[in-house]
Amino acid sequence: MERTSALIVAAGLGTRAGTQIPKQFAPLGGKPMVRHSVEALLASPHISDVTVVVGAAQAQAARAILGDGVQLVTGGAERKDSVLAGLQALAGAQRVLVHDAARPFLTAPVIERLVKALDKDAGAVPVLPVADTLARAAPADLNSTAAMLTRGAEHMLGDTVQREGMYRVQTPQAFRYEAIVEAHRRWPEGQGATDDAQMVRAAGFPVAMVAGDPALEKVTYAGDFAAAEARIAASMRVRTAQGFDVHRFEMGGELWLGGILIPGDRGLAGHSDADVGLHAITDALLGTIGAGDIGMHFPPSDPQWRGARSARFLEHAAGLVAAAGGIIDFIDLTLICEAPKIGPHRDAIRASVAAILRLAVSQVSVKATTTERLGFTGRGEGMAAQAVATIRIRETGR
Ligand code: MG
Repeated sequence: MERTSALIVAAGLGTRAGTQIPKQFAPLGGKPMVRHSVEALLASPHISDVTVVVGAAQAQAARAILGDGVQLVTGGAERKDSVLAGLQALAGAQRVLVHDAARPFLTAPVIERLVKALDKDAGAVPVLPVADTLARAAPADLNSTAAMLTRGAEHMLGDTVQREGMYRVQTPQAFRYEAIVEAHRRWPEGQGATDDAQMVRAAGFPVAMVAGDPALEKVTYAGDFAAAEARIAASMRVRTAQGFDVHRFEMGGELWLGGILIPGDRGLAGHSDADVGLHAITDALLGTIGAGDIGMHFPPSDPQWRGARSARFLEHAAGLVAAAGGIIDFIDLTLICEAPKIGPHRDAIRASVAAILRLAVSQVSVKATTTERLGFTGRGEGMAAQAVATIRIRETGR
């Protein structure tokens, strides 16, 4: 099978969408916009590898956002330079899809149509027919400054342009690797280019049109951002799941609660650090995606988890939720014991859980209760914890 590489151009400095940082790194549906495209491409059976071209100033942030499964390349001054830098890093690829990070809603059928089209042609682009009436502005004399001042309009209407045979061109744009590299080599120095497909055409290669997708619309302005958020919100459902855990007190051990070491003469017994609070939250998160329980993922019989920090278990569960496309909205933890008093440690535990899950402190609640001296917790033999996790996730219907 031929190697098909994806190249995402994310080197722009665009803040027209009203974002503080370049829009491709601004959060959209709980994750940076560029990650939507990265995940769609990584999930495609037609794509071998994904490279993201970023501005030098964003390289570090991009590495943190995108993780190790993606190659990062530093772009150039113009979009064309950034694409070329990416292509040079893809030596050995036979096909390449060049995508714009500002089009986050990339679907599997579009990827498949583009890749298949390269069996016959050197290039392929996704297009949509033009539905609106197209018109030119009126000739210049009607649009003179003086005429505008008296009318208060921006431009006057000119002739209608026939829209039959007119298409809007989207990305990704797919090319045989030699064709796009050749097109860049031949492109006149200093001449601007907004579209890779036109460069490939100019170099003499045929470029096919395949059906695009209205969802692939470019996110440019603040209004586009709001619409994209609404689209994601509409496709997501809330899920809640609960977790429960108990550990026995023992004299002399360490007492870890919510990732915090609580001073005292008693600790909780267990194979790991026995952090009953983090275990309950871990099980709640695993429950939201039906991924079993903590004992399945970290069996007590496995010596590598002896004395392990339970923060690792929780990070693992959060990673599984993220991989399933889930966004953690809220964690509510209840610690059940007579002693120690949780109140003095509540803020530290909230902050600790929030830090492990990369949430705001306001997304974590920590409560405590006794059992009125009844039962094993009432007798001080052990401690229990309950947690409820609330996430949003895209329902696939499967
Ligand atoms: Mg446990």
